[in-house]
Amino acid sequence: MVTTFHRPKDAAEALSLLAGAADRLAMAGGTQLLSSESRSLGFSAVAVSAILPGGIDRLATGLSIGAAATFQQLVDYPSLPGALRKAALGMVDRNIRNRATVGGNLGADKSCSSLIPILLALDASLELLDGRTLGLQEWLGLPPGPMGRGTISRILAPLHEGTKAGYARWSRVSCDIAVLGAALAFRLEGGLVKGLRLVLGGVSAHSRRFPAIEALFEGRILPEGDAIEAAVAPLLSPIDDVRGSAQFKRSRISSLVAEAFLEASEVTAMEAAK
Ligand SMILES: Cc1cc2nc3c(=O)[nH]c(=O)nc-3n(C[C@H](O)[C@H](O)[C@H](O)COP(=O)(O)OP(=O)(O)OC[C@H]3O[C@@H](n4cnc5c(N)ncnc54)[C@H](O)[C@@H]3O)c2cc1C
Repeated sequence: MVTTFHRPKDAAEALSLLAGAADRLAMAGGTQLLSSESRSLGFSAVAVSAILPGGIDRLATGLSIGAAATFQQLVDYPSLPGALRKAALGMVDRNIRNRATVGGNLGADKSCSSLIPILLALDASLELLDGRTLGLQEWLGLPPGPMGRGTISRILAPLHEGTKAGYARWSRVSCDIAVLGAALAFRLEGGLVKGLRLVLGGVSAHSRRFPAIEALFEGRILPEGDAIEAAVAPLLSPIDDVRGSAQFKRSRISSLVAEAFLEASEVTAMEAAK
């Protein structure tokens, strides 16, 4: 429940408001903060969408995404990497996509987050409102909230020539939050997998990398789908949550990893969504 609502006129006022009291939270689209999930949370809202950048730009080095960009803006951006577009399209429906922001998605840090897996796989970094620049992984390791992680201003996703990226998700119906998600990115050098980053959502309390699985494929020829599934399955013990049982998740997750690998091996992250 929102107890007080602040509408700062610029970044300096937003930073001072957010630092002023422990119960103040940055509010962007409000799809998480105003949902029934947050009903028991009494907080003072600091509206940040109007003072954060919202544009999306394709730079020579990758993609720059303003934290206030909505999911629908991301989906509509013409030269978005296919795996990122697919992840953004997984967000429920157009109404929510029109309000939910990229910064808010990272701030919500849900186990089944739509964007954290693919942005972590692409090794995204963040520019914060207070001037700091941090890797997404480093930022997620800080305590949540404006006093710990701070407010994201811009997301930078590097897109190196030849990087391959894939994303696969499982949800009950197509317009529903993911029960499980798998995202990965790697290069193929002389037919061998290099620099693999694999991130799974819905398996643990927060989306995270799985170094033991990455090590299985690093420096090797990518196996066939069945062999990928067989290699990955013993290394995963998913959690139970409201979206799916551990038993069900165990039966699906390794095939999603194989699907993400196969999708990635066909397209590079530089290729735009068709
Ligand atoms: C019906 C429904 C379906 C949903 N489906 C999905 C789904 O499929 N996938 C998914 O991932 N989520 C889903 N969500 C959760 C939520 O809507 C998303 O995570 C959304 O992206 C949050 O963005 P927002 O702009 O609305 O954030 P808000 O609700 O405004 O904020 C969410 C959190 O992020 C923090 N925050 C906001 N902006 C920033 C910023 N710039 N920097 C740092 N922290 C910030 C806030 O303080 C808060 O803790 C769903 C929610 C609803 C109600």
